[in-house]
Amino acid sequence: MQERRYFTPGPSELFPTVKTYIQEALTRNLLSQSHRSREFQSMAEDTKTGLRALLGIPPEHRIFFLSSATEAMERTIQNCVGSQSFHFVNGAFAERFYQTAVELNKKPRQYRVEDGQGFDFSNTDIPPETELLCLTQNETSTGVAFKEADIADLKRRHPDMLVAVDVVSSVPYVDLNYSLTDSVFFSVQKGFGLPAGLGAVIVSPQAMEKARMLQRSISIGSYHSFLSLEQYDQKNQTPETPNVLGIYLLGRVAAEMNEYGIDRIRVETDEKAAILYNCFDNAPRYDPAVKERQLRSKTVIVVNVPSGAQKVIETLGEASIAIEGGYRDKTHQFRIANFPAHRRMDVDLIVSLLR
Ligand SMILES: *Cc1c(COP(=O)(O)O)cnc(C)c1O
Repeated sequence: MQERRYFTPGPSELFPTVKTYIQEALTRNLLSQSHRSREFQSMAEDTKTGLRALLGIPPEHRIFFLSSATEAMERTIQNCVGSQSFHFVNGAFAERFYQTAVELNKKPRQYRVEDGQGFDFSNTDIPPETELLCLTQNETSTGVAFKEADIADLKRRHPDMLVAVDVVSSVPYVDLNYSLTDSVFFSVQKGFGLPAGLGAVIVSPQAMEKARMLQRSISIGSYHSFLSLEQYDQKNQTPETPNVLGIYLLGRVAAEMNEYGIDRIRVETDEKAAILYNCFDNAPRYDPAVKERQLRSKTVIVVNVPSGAQKVIETLGEASIAIEGGYRDKTHQFRIANFPAHRRMDVDLIVSLLR
């Protein structure tokens, strides 16, 4: 039987070598070692080194391991905001980030546009007392992506504000200038093709400073405050017993991607995205949900099907390819992920089946 391939936006197709690396972790007895041991420290350090090389993370930025991206939203708000965050909201995940600030008793404001729309950055009214700007670089619910240059421009225009960027469904493809960001976070079950249960946040010195300042007057959390995470990170450890297997697998996959070349991964992602969008732009039954081409995500492709999405999902299902319905509209929309684990030959197959 043909193995099922998962073009779902996350959890998604596992990176092809993950099985080998899980076996390797068992063989090396890594999963019985203490998280205070030399073995763990050296392994965690390797993972961070691999991520730095892959994503271009500056040495002065810290990488902290968390349990998920949702946790990273909460930690970012707790550690970077006394009261005023400002959120660019154009879909469900950006909305979640905003709600997190509401639930933590902050006073968030938002620039909200309809799902699937972009923002007018030249004409954005950001209150001067804003402490943190929150962006969902790749809105998985709608298939809209921010241009990297727009994020850098925001920071250049507001150097006193911190900038938080959710890159969950675009990493490692997204090419950010990390020097112009303060908290960038992701979880591993999307672009890295790993089992869920691990998140990471990349934190700037400016954000660490803010956490230190806030801690004097308010709670910034307990074991996973940026300060507690930093204290352990200096020893290549984590405050709690972490997801050791997840950290190991992330390091192995990052090393493999480094070997393969991030530029090549980006080019291939662009090529696969072009094939998919080209198909949906030219077949009358389909209608890409994001009309403005510049806003279209390369890693999560969202398509409207006025005649019904179920049939499409079934057709691909019969060929052992799993995709997912729309985030809000499961009846007339589907989503296809385009991550490094997704092979060109399967993309060609999808296109030939759907055309
Ligand atoms: C999946 C996703 C999240 C949530 O990730 P978890 O690992 O489930 O916490 C957050 N933001 C975006 C854009 C996502 O796609």
